[in-house]
Amino acid sequence: MEGETAVDQLTRAALRQLPAVYELVDALPPDQRDSLDEQYITDCARFAIDSARAEILSGNPDAAKTVRQRFAAELDILRCEGVKVVINGTGVVVHTNLGRSPVSEATAQAMSEAATHYLPLEVELETGARGGRGREVSALLRALTGAQRSLVVNNNAAGILLTLSALCAGRKVIVSRGQAVEIGGGFRIPDVMRQSGAILVEVGTTNRTRLSDYEQAIDEETAAILSVHASNFEITGFTEKPELAELAELAHACGLLLIEDVGSGCLVQTERYGLAHEPTLAESVAAGVDVVTASGDKLLGGPQAGLVLGTEQAVAKIARHPLARAVRVDKTVQAGIAATLRHYLRGEQDQQVPIWRMISQSPEELARRVDRWLAEIGDPRCERVATTSVIGGGSLPGKSQPSAGLAISIESIGAAEAARRLRVGEPAVFPRIIDERAVIDARTVLPDQDAGVVEAVRRLLAGS
Ligand SMILES: *Cc1c(COP(=O)(O)O)cnc(C)c1O
Repeated sequence: MEGETAVDQLTRAALRQLPAVYELVDALPPDQRDSLDEQYITDCARFAIDSARAEILSGNPDAAKTVRQRFAAELDILRCEGVKVVINGTGVVVHTNLGRSPVSEATAQAMSEAATHYLPLEVELETGARGGRGREVSALLRALTGAQRSLVVNNNAAGILLTLSALCAGRKVIVSRGQAVEIGGGFRIPDVMRQSGAILVEVGTTNRTRLSDYEQAIDEETAAILSVHASNFEITGFTEKPELAELAELAHACGLLLIEDVGSGCLVQTERYGLAHEPTLAESVAAGVDVVTASGDKLLGGPQAGLVLGTEQAVAKIARHPLARAVRVDKTVQAGIAATLRHYLRGEQDQQVPIWRMISQSPEELARRVDRWLAEIGDPRCERVATTSVIGGGSLPGKSQPSAGLAISIESIGAAEAARRLRVGEPAVFPRIIDERAVIDARTVLPDQDAGVVEAVRRLLAGS
């Protein structure tokens, strides 16, 4: 066509390659049609074609070749029964992209019970009157941390936003320059602060902030000092920051609140596991923090949630704010957090809470586990290697543990392709690549997944 560029021609050619809806549907084997209503199948075909067309028009003519894959993927989603689970062989314990912390059996059971039954969520059993939501978690966290009152919200990001909105809107909040950070997923302290209506006042420098820096920034418009745990990076070397207790003393002497975003919500002493110290919720409360927020699904090892702990007065005010209703959790999460907290109360977290069970495993134990896999697989292309696993999830930055992994070398396909085949297989395994080999780190493979690892690796080896 006159004036048509080479790109236009490619685009037109690609569009012509797109099949018609009936062509996709008719090509389906009969057994794949039986389980779904005809209308759903047709809609999936139309969606596959439309999405490929949009991609071609946005400059990728190769999308024409992906229509059948897209169609199959859509149908798979509709036909899938239950939840798609994967084996985490990355060695990252709290893996955000793989759903952070798996919860304990007791927690899962509590969540399931709560989901399938009625329960006295907001009613007093004695009087039948309304009330009581969150009292259980408040009592558990009071026992574990000393906080007078707590609130469970959707996640830590919601906890911070709600806390700042309820306590600091229209007033100033002082933050150290080294703590005006981005946590990930677009969660930046300055943005959250703006969203809450609070006014950010940055003090000090990236590496050093002194108590006097905070002191000098305080004026009559100041509502609070905010301390943020830099979870996903470390500033080392020439650094300085005041202790939490010093900040609390300064804040209270000036009639301000001290708010802390502690990140991971740790309840145990991490030194016990050979890890660097991670601040605990109890330490924050003891230091005099008025409100501390944390995640439920990082080092707490529970379902996704945000914990807001603090003084009766501050948390009551937060709970009354209209946003509290918008970010509150449902009964299943409430039950799941309570069940998780009870493991700590009974001191059984190393046996019961999956992340602590994983973190507790010694490198020798993990090596023996890899050896058992190797014995079952019996293939010279696999061997045991020493690895380093990490906690992940924006907690304990730069802190790792020695671990053991199963390394697979298949010359004909290379590490990236081996990893891809493991991910798309059934069961799906997420390995990591170390020195041009796909490696399955034993630390993060759950106890009931040993057979799955063996099966997945055997299948990979047989197909290559
Ligand atoms: C992870 C993290 C957050 C975000 O927590 P979510 O539960 O994912 O919302 C906020 N602050 C800190 C310091 C964190 O580590």
